[in-house]
Amino acid sequence: MFNHVSARIVFALLLAVFVFTCWKYGITRWQISAIGMLLVSYVVLLVYGSYFIQSNFFVKSLCKGDTGKKQIAITFDDGPMKDFTPKVLDILKTEKVPAAFFLIGRNIQGNEELVKRMIAEGHVIGNHSFEHGFWFSLQSKSKMISDAEKCDTAIKEVTGLQPKLFRPPYGVTNPMVAQLIKQRNYHSIGWSVRTYDTNAKSAEGLLQKTLKNLCAGDVILFHDWGQHTIGMLSEFISQARKRGFEFVRVDELLNIKAYY
Ligand SMILES: [Zn+2]
Repeated sequence: MFNHVSARIVFALLLAVFVFTCWKYGITRWQISAIGMLLVSYVVLLVYGSYFIQSNFFVKSLCKGDTGKKQIAITFDDGPMKDFTPKVLDILKTEKVPAAFFLIGRNIQGNEELVKRMIAEGHVIGNHSFEHGFWFSLQSKSKMISDAEKCDTAIKEVTGLQPKLFRPPYGVTNPMVAQLIKQRNYHSIGWSVRTYDTNAKSAEGLLQKTLKNLCAGDVILFHDWGQHTIGMLSEFISQARKRGFEFVRVDELLNIKAYY
């Protein structure tokens, strides 16, 4: 698998070749262009690996299941939110669909009943950090760990359960996030369908976009506060079922343990 370790080795080897040719033949304009291109390519690769969680560039993330059945899982990030989450839970209850909620720890206070309701109604809960800061992935390792621990504690205080599922804020990974996941022994959970529901222009557009190319094993990323998510959720479930898909929890789809 091509990851940040193999990329570093390839980069170091190419750099060594560059230094050798400079030593042997002197510095030419061609060599300056080559080193520039090499550096730019390396930076582009690092940005790509950080942004695309499915690339598994810095850390192995589970993004798609393979149960041999036409099963899919829906996941909701950023809750609990008292204005949105009850509506999502109502739809899931009516449709008898289990889902995963990746919670922001600081949203739990004041919404404890919603978190209890998630568990009581058969959903699974994961950690999505405590603060969900924009610069989460650029913090020091110790700050990152204490933030994630704080979210685990908030979840455990309400449910008695300590999550093993972790979804990095914004899906951004890097060597520090990789260390956090390793140290806390989390399963890093990504997605195979990013709906961009928070930017959707209409419920119908979001519905069609999400249904398009839906495949067995897909993990779908929604947000509790997605502008049109609540408006299309029931129809999405119905249409997906008509196409033969079965909804299961993400931990079942990925065949992993959700809690310690
Ligand atoms: Zn988020």
